[in-house]
Amino acid sequence: MIDVALLGCGGSMPMVNRYLSSTLIQYNGRKCLIDCGEGTQVAMRHLGWGFKSIDLICLTHLHGDHIFGLPGLLSTIGNCGREDSLTMIGPTGLVSLFQDLKVLLPYLPYEIIYYEAPKIYEVNDMEIKTLPLHHSLPCLGYSFKIKRKPMFDTKKAESYLIPKKWWNELQKGKTITDNGTVYTPDMVLGKDRNGLKISIITDTRPIETIPPFIQNSDILICEGTYGDDADLEKAMKNKHMTFREAAQLAKVGEVAEMILTHFSPSLSEPDLYLKNALEEFSETIIGTDLMVKTMKFKKK
Ligand SMILES: [Zn+2]
Ligand SMILES: [Zn+2]
Repeated sequence: MIDVALLGCGGSMPMVNRYLSSTLIQYNGRKCLIDCGEGTQVAMRHLGWGFKSIDLICLTHLHGDHIFGLPGLLSTIGNCGREDSLTMIGPTGLVSLFQDLKVLLPYLPYEIIYYEAPKIYEVNDMEIKTLPLHHSLPCLGYSFKIKRKPMFDTKKAESYLIPKKWWNELQKGKTITDNGTVYTPDMVLGKDRNGLKISIITDTRPIETIPPFIQNSDILICEGTYGDDADLEKAMKNKHMTFREAAQLAKVGEVAEMILTHFSPSLSEPDLYLKNALEEFSETIIGTDLMVKTMKFKKK
């Protein structure tokens, strides 16, 4: 089971009733945070999921509304007793940001390992891919693929005459050598099973590389800075998207569901413009702060 929480759905600056856009993915009790605008740790306190188990922080880009919460959050993670290293991924510029953070946080009790603009990063059962977006700064879109282990196939294990004492280890992925015979995990495992895919696209203009990148996502969390079609010119100038443009990407990318986020402070009631997105892609919902989506693997 995977929980995806929208910590905030605003762009630009925090509002009284809307935090800045930041997303938390929780899987097997471990956490991955995507972006960390000012106030992210306050939103996390509302959620109550804790800070210590954040293993990975992915930054889309270095605009303030996506990173100004970092020093406070990193400090709080340390105060919660984290000693294991934490990984940070981000666009070009991450290395110099990291140097700046060191000035503010000289005595963190844990190490930060950082990767600038990696194309792919794997951790546990999760494969993370990045895509360069089209914004006013170097910016990365992310896709998170949570893999699912194949089922144990008893008949297969028996057909290879594998002693039962090794079944459990082989299922966990270990290779066993017993009296000169080598047993490998594929000898006991069935077919691959569908995992889950979560994509996060913010901030950007729509570009043709996005649909193949988000293809078949179970959830796409996508920026829709402007709701009104009449704001298209503003969206083009500020390198953002309207609801309609985001929905067109979701449709071409054949995602299962899209959640809109990163609303302009001028957009006080995004619901009023939902119809613009629905005309393009019917499985669109408006994101709200602290919305939690629980995702389950499909049966097969
Ligand atoms: Zn932004
Ligand atoms: Zn931005």
